[in-house]
Amino acid sequence: QTTPQKPQKKQKQPGSPPLPRQNTKTAPPSPPRVISDPTGHLQFHRVGFLGEGGFARVYEVKDTRGARLACKVVTKSSLVTKKAKTKLYAEIKIHRALEHPNIVDFRDCFEDDDNVYMTLELCVNGSITDMLRRRRLFTEPEARFFLVQLIGACQYMHTHQVIHRDLKLGNLFLDGHMNVKVGDFGLAALIENPGERKKTICGTPNYIAPEVLFDTANGHSFEVDIWSIGVILYTLVVGRPPFQTKDVKAIYERIRDNQYEFPADRPISAYAQELIQSILASNPQMRPSLLDIVDHPFFTRGIFPPYIPSSAYDIPPNFR
Ligand code: ADP
Repeated sequence: QTTPQKPQKKQKQPGSPPLPRQNTKTAPPSPPRVISDPTGHLQFHRVGFLGEGGFARVYEVKDTRGARLACKVVTKSSLVTKKAKTKLYAEIKIHRALEHPNIVDFRDCFEDDDNVYMTLELCVNGSITDMLRRRRLFTEPEARFFLVQLIGACQYMHTHQVIHRDLKLGNLFLDGHMNVKVGDFGLAALIENPGERKKTICGTPNYIAPEVLFDTANGHSFEVDIWSIGVILYTLVVGRPPFQTKDVKAIYERIRDNQYEFPADRPISAYAQELIQSILASNPQMRPSLLDIVDHPFFTRGIFPPYIPSSAYDIPPNFR
């Protein structure tokens, strides 16, 4: 998994795209066993550790009724700069306003002296990255199932003027029924005026759209999420991202040159290849819309499973 590229203050020129930051931090102390809000109305028992990202550590907690939740914890010591605070408030503002069956449900937000806490719907099956590690690659029916749910969530975000900007397998979580839940709104942007363009260089190297890196003068908009959906589809059916190489600079060169191939040793259907190629158009205006994507024969002519069995976590399901 690549290191997330967090927003950079200054706009970089096309010749010098962002590089992943160095991970120099030391582990902060664990949050209390019993986490409560200042009013004492909310109380959660910390029962396990789920994972950590660039800014937060995420724990499994139980509320007073015994319901399991995820709790994202950001230490206040990491929020000393104004920029870090603004970013966290933006994430909270955007995430808590979204309500969709395929978006991680945002429950509550509160703080104590040491941390800011966000309680979220628990996704017991982790992220699709975790599952891909075990499965190596997915069948095309599974890719259809995951993608339709992602596209539903994305359509909802875009109609609510939200660009996610960090769609990747590691931010697609799975609930107990193998349904997709889009999470981590840490890089999301709200488009407040029609036609507004965003200029911050951000994303995760393998999934960044070319205009984010190389058209900084013009900026970017909703089409960056469509690009990431193309990268996600490729990664699901091939087993690795299309522009992947060891060196981040080389990944950016490949993205700039639209240089990727389909492996000859894996049977990727012609429909899947054609759809991926149409989505990964360098020119954002040439990319299909979300509705165009679900209308493509890859979706309309192939097997579409009604659900994914939990056994799929380890063994490819047979949907015939
Ligand atoms: P960051 O914003 O710091 O990148 P993330 O939101 O990506 O943090 O969360 C970090 C890790 O915590 C994830 O990779 C995942 O393993 C775990 N995680 C996050 N949210 C949930 C959730 N709702 N349910 C289960 N695990 C989660």
